Amino acid sequence: MSFRQARWDEPPIWELASVPESPAAPPPVPGVPERLRRKRGVRWPELSELEVVRHYTRLSQMNFGIDTSIYPLGSCTMKYNPKVSELLARRPGAAALHPYQPEATAQGAMELIWRLERALAKITGMAEASLQPAAGAHGEYAALLMVRRHLAERGELERRTEVLLPDTAHGTNPASAQMAGFTAREIPSTNGCVDLAQLRAALSDRTACFMLTNPNTAGLFESEILEIAEAVHSAGALLYYDGANLNAILGITSPGRMGFDVAHLNLHKTFATPHGGGGPGAGVLAASERLAPYLPIPRVVRRGRKYRWEYDRPKSIGKIKTGYGNFGLDLRAYAFLLAHGEEGLRHVARRAVLNSNYLAHRLSAELDRPFRPLVKHEFVLSGARLRERGVRTLDLAKRLLDEGVHAPTVYFPTIVEESLMIEPPETESRRELDRFAEAFERAIRDTPEALHRAPQNLAVLRVDEVRAARYPRLSWKDLRETAPPPAPDGSMPPSPPPKP
Ligand SMILES: *Cc1c(COP(=O)(O)O)cnc(C)c1O
Repeated sequence: MSFRQARWDEPPIWELASVPESPAAPPPVPGVPERLRRKRGVRWPELSELEVVRHYTRLSQMNFGIDTSIYPLGSCTMKYNPKVSELLARRPGAAALHPYQPEATAQGAMELIWRLERALAKITGMAEASLQPAAGAHGEYAALLMVRRHLAERGELERRTEVLLPDTAHGTNPASAQMAGFTAREIPSTNGCVDLAQLRAALSDRTACFMLTNPNTAGLFESEILEIAEAVHSAGALLYYDGANLNAILGITSPGRMGFDVAHLNLHKTFATPHGGGGPGAGVLAASERLAPYLPIPRVVRRGRKYRWEYDRPKSIGKIKTGYGNFGLDLRAYAFLLAHGEEGLRHVARRAVLNSNYLAHRLSAELDRPFRPLVKHEFVLSGARLRERGVRTLDLAKRLLDEGVHAPTVYFPTIVEESLMIEPPETESRRELDRFAEAFERAIRDTPEALHRAPQNLAVLRVDEVRAARYPRLSWKDLRETAPPPAPDGSMPPSPPPKP
């Protein structure tokens, strides 16, 4: 890289000195055919270091993350990602690993996977765990493939085609059921919990599996879980646990104790690994004695003091991902587990539940709370009352962004009108919870006009969601094409034909 000669009548010396000059076309490399040769020099971006730093710093400030402020997304467990885990994951011995390097050169990583799988099996009360799935939904899908394998072996796959789930289920549950070749059937809840009578009525010799989250997405513990397990098993079906958020029960109870056969967990929720923005996730599959043989291959096994990938598992559903999970996240989660220890994990659960009840109590003064008993790690409010003022939950959520906090999950669970679902994880202090409650109070007391206009202080204002969905701009090339304007009556013109 060469630098321009600095002159006194030009901008500051440092700025000039740090602007690279685009080189001229390089001399031809012997042997490279004429038609493949570069005709012009490479065009470097001719920007000073300061300009580049300001550009990226500005971009980062337009973004919101867990390091900025509280992120109380119900169902998503957005907790602090300890920086010590980041330091560990960036060490060359971990970051430079290749997924297909020889076993003998990856013993440390394999030992970590082996230890973490055993720790997670213990935490879930299951026989074995696998870190292979890339995310929660991937774990769900793989678990249902295991259910299929098991049913096929029993000769009942043809008959057992239905997967039952409560109407509070996370959207990925019915989607995974459908993708795994089952028909998803919803069971209505009563007071936010599974209605045992309705479940019993729906169970039959066509049921393959019942998918459940406990505590469920209304933040309520399904206290009839043992009866539920008994009913599902006596119908010959299997019980699946969606453990994306294990926050409320860590070290206190487990899906194994509740009678589940197979479960998935999200390291990127419960175990404090980074999450969101499309970054890598890490799902975990945990299986009881009965379903463990179907876990995906390979499995990490220990032979003497050596760790090996074992492929010889005849009942396995096979391989479900290139490489093996997302190792960088496994390492961060392992650090989180070791830092807490068994008692520390129980503290995580108690603190998450305490935070949630504290905030639920404070915010119940502002909005209706449909399910009144004590909640677990999250709770649901209804914004239906705001409608009297012509305001919707969405307006409140947008107005909260102007307060510098992230909005809760909105319009889920769908069983509550204008729902808001709030989860303040254990990593938030009481002072932060109070700040959030105060922001919430200010937002809700604002005028309807201000609520409709919000957000006003962000880089991106209210998004036209219909246009965004119809005319997504997914690459810089799309930016050059302008979407047609809405018709005078506000309706959208038809979508353009899909691009080849
Ligand atoms: C997040 C979540 C999932 C899906 O996990 P992904 O990693 O996003 O695929 C499934 N169930 C529940 C309850 C969740 O909160």
